[in-house]
Amino acid sequence: MISRRTALRNLLLTTGAVTVTPALLAQVAPPPEQEGVFKLPALGYDYDALEPHIDAETMKLHHDKHHAAYVAKLNQAITKAPGFEKKSIEEILANLDSVPEEVRKEIRNQGGGHANHSLFWQTLKKNEDGKPVGDLAKEITKAFGSYDDFWKLYSDAALKLFGSGWAWLAWRDKKLVIEAAPNQDSPLMSGGQPILGLDVWEHAYYLKYQNRRADYIKAFQNVINWEFLNERFNKLAA
Ligand code: MN
Repeated sequence: MISRRTALRNLLLTTGAVTVTPALLAQVAPPPEQEGVFKLPALGYDYDALEPHIDAETMKLHHDKHHAAYVAKLNQAITKAPGFEKKSIEEILANLDSVPEEVRKEIRNQGGGHANHSLFWQTLKKNEDGKPVGDLAKEITKAFGSYDDFWKLYSDAALKLFGSGWAWLAWRDKKLVIEAAPNQDSPLMSGGQPILGLDVWEHAYYLKYQNRRADYIKAFQNVINWEFLNERFNKLAA
């Protein structure tokens, strides 16, 4: 059994000279448990693949600790919702009202965390000054006027989101929409489909950007895998 003090000391060592805030510490998870029906997906690329825009240390902590903790806690919660372990996390989140009330909030939070991050890793790729492609590019122009107009709305949603949450580009009622959602909420929870999520929890950027969320959001434009997003959009819009 590792003491909380030891765990904190280890964390401080691994994060080097960076000042770790109480808010960040509160988000840091226990070691992942690999048992259970829901699994932590592989990142799919190296931790440093998005450097310098998103640093390797952040990616490692974000995937191996934070996402792993959502998975472990979801696996614990799902034991209190018999039958739900057979469903996909997307299906569960789209029908939260059917989840037993006792664990509904826990599954909303941990399951949302699992689904959001599972999508998030796939949407990232070093793609400096990348722009939308294909049908998604056309739809973005149709919905928002231009890429620049889209980015202004999207980054504003991310910047102005109070506390922790996500800015979403989502497909809802056959239209592209920009939404901000608190905590680990997903457009899935209200009948939409997430396309691109921008994680503005401090754990997503604090080591490199500290309190400069605006700089992180600006840099995020360099790590969007627009090819993947276009493929996803085409499936959703079909
Ligand atoms: Mn996150």
